[in-house]
Amino acid sequence: MKKLMAANWKMHMTRAEAIETAAQLALLTESKLPKDREVLVLPPFTALETVGGTFKDKGGFSWGAQNFYPAEKGAFTGEISSAMLADLGCTYLLAGHSERRHVLGEDDTFVGEKVGFGLEKGFRVILCVGETIEQRRAGKVADVLATQLHAGLVDVQKGVEPERVSIAYEPVWAIGTGEVAGPDEIVQAHDFVRDQLRELFGRAAGKMRILYGGSVKPANAADILSLDNVNGVLVGGASLAADSFSAIALAGL
Ligand code: PEP
Repeated sequence: MKKLMAANWKMHMTRAEAIETAAQLALLTESKLPKDREVLVLPPFTALETVGGTFKDKGGFSWGAQNFYPAEKGAFTGEISSAMLADLGCTYLLAGHSERRHVLGEDDTFVGEKVGFGLEKGFRVILCVGETIEQRRAGKVADVLATQLHAGLVDVQKGVEPERVSIAYEPVWAIGTGEVAGPDEIVQAHDFVRDQLRELFGRAAGKMRILYGGSVKPANAADILSLDNVNGVLVGGASLAADSFSAIALAGL
């Protein structure tokens, strides 16, 4: 299984900054990237075309969208469709990121619609799940993950190619805070996610990637990537500079 090293640029980067960062990232990473690692950049929509142009002839690099609306087309002012993203060469879509759940009000049902729709349209989809600090303190991590996974995957066909489905475990309290989850917390959560995937998809679950996200940095990436059931990382803050994200992409090699 290829490890997925994903950069979530959130609402950062003008086109000029994006071209510069993507070009630097390719320069620092391309010749050293092993066949079993894949680099994914999720830029803002406005930079998708330029980032795609930088990566399109480079093996091991993909680009995708941080958000999309689960309908073909229509009266959805301000939204973007999967066809528009396919047109820009995107192969990956993100769904259920905690900022979209907690800041922009997306609920489990809507996240599930997005995951099902994106997969049906042939994309690779990353479903983000994770508990708040209050939920962790109340001993509800397993409940929260089970609910988010079941709702998020409810529309996924049983026969879907498992390589197209990834889960990102991102504890909300670790996102953008500098507070990374400990190894035991990560292993426990990832084991739980794998078990849930097995319940839903049987043997195919073994081929679905489970990423960790939450304050991943060059200094902690190798240790996190060495843990059981960690098949990649989803990185926010430390992905904004080419040198730190290339160090993460190549961590532990
Ligand atoms: C994220 O945006 O998904 C994320 C994990 O952010 P950060 O790496 O900054 O915690």
